[in-house]
Amino acid sequence: MFAEIKGLNEECGVFAVWGHKDAAQITYYGLHSLQHRGQEGAGIVVSDGDTLNVHKGLGLVNEVFDQQTLNALQGSAAIGHVRYATAGGGGFANVQPLMFRSQVGGLAIAHNGNIVNANNLKLQLENQGSIFQSTSDTEVLAHLIKRSGYWSLEDQFRHALAMLKGAYAFAVMNEHQLIAAMDPNGLRPLAIGRIGDAYVVASETCAFDIIGATYERDVKPGEMVIIDDNGLRTEQYDKSTNPAICSMEYVYFARPDSNVETINVHTARKQLGKQLAIEAPIEADVVTGVPDSSISAAIGYAEQTGIPYELGLIKNRYVGRTFIQPSQELREQGVKMKLSAVRGVVEGKRVVMIDDSIVRGTTSRRIVNMLKEAGALEVHVRISSPPIKHPCFYGIDTSTTSELIASQHSLEEMREMMGADSLSFLSTDGLKKGIGRDPEMSNCGQCLACFTGEYPTEIYADTVHPHAKV
Ligand code: SF4
Repeated sequence: MFAEIKGLNEECGVFAVWGHKDAAQITYYGLHSLQHRGQEGAGIVVSDGDTLNVHKGLGLVNEVFDQQTLNALQGSAAIGHVRYATAGGGGFANVQPLMFRSQVGGLAIAHNGNIVNANNLKLQLENQGSIFQSTSDTEVLAHLIKRSGYWSLEDQFRHALAMLKGAYAFAVMNEHQLIAAMDPNGLRPLAIGRIGDAYVVASETCAFDIIGATYERDVKPGEMVIIDDNGLRTEQYDKSTNPAICSMEYVYFARPDSNVETINVHTARKQLGKQLAIEAPIEADVVTGVPDSSISAAIGYAEQTGIPYELGLIKNRYVGRTFIQPSQELREQGVKMKLSAVRGVVEGKRVVMIDDSIVRGTTSRRIVNMLKEAGALEVHVRISSPPIKHPCFYGIDTSTTSELIASQHSLEEMREMMGADSLSFLSTDGLKKGIGRDPEMSNCGQCLACFTGEYPTEIYADTVHPHAKV
């Protein structure tokens, strides 16, 4: 579904290229294909080998950039970013890449994830004289880099990374080097590709397809990938890794045409739908999925049960972005604008409605109602992930615990609130099995924290000074 109406928001998409004469254009197309990961702001920093130049702004990629701005960004290396504001809130100052200039040159940083000890580090840095120009957790990295006492970006970055906790997929660049790095849990995806002799790095592989790049491999947990005119080198900067990639990338965030750590997202979702059908079958006439992210799971459910898959819900593609409508009431109006039930498909039918996840539950209630208004005899809600009961601290805005319907209500209460005839969620074992990662790894190398409350990293208490605005 649309992130903004579900209440689950991905925080960012990162793209970088090294060694291509059209670096800014390539980055523009890459960011365009990552637009689903963030719609609040976009930016590109380009290096011509002597200086870094930046253009960024609030809005969608095609609102921020036009041919003229791209033409002005000359150089053979670039990093880009699309942002959805959660940590640190919105506003131009937080739009990335963040760029810093000093006597020895420039530094640009693009980050996907959330640094859980950012507030502690900020307080320490402020006590040592640092002043922050944004409220973003990412700016902490720049200060740690500059205060490291080392000369090379590689050494500075390694030193800074050792102090960070949480989720980070970084691309940092100066005039001479591009470095990508992944946190020791590998919480957010980041892949490396090639386009001709150039290297590209992106949050999702769909960004490679759009520019004609080939996938090489994923950046590993605790790994730093250093790219410069001598080629690509890698270094395992942290050896105490515990792979735990975000399960919601497979369930909901990533584009179905992306492969996340070599598993195709559409295929994983379809398997989740099949698994759901095994765990929670029901007699019905049609299966339908909530567009767009639940369609793959609905196809899987239909395939497994033999109940035909039909297009019972359609999305109106040309309505405005509802994420600027903050109130509950407006959000519900947004759902009405974006989705319609297809009367000819659901009238007089027992419908299985597949959704990938439930956050606040308001959207599901609205859709069940919509299907019933269109004449559905019964609506059976099946969710292709387990109930979300705990907040995410790793860059996904899943709201606070009190807003999460599954943390406040029993299954039967939720069913009643939605007006559904039955309601079932996928089990956590079903989630692991459906995605199909390595069963030898702990939790199959997945983060399951929003379902289980078991976080793969330490979660830091907010120790910021009571008068601080963070
Ligand atoms: S808590 Fe949930 S949303 Fe956050 S990283 Fe883990 S699996 Fe993803």
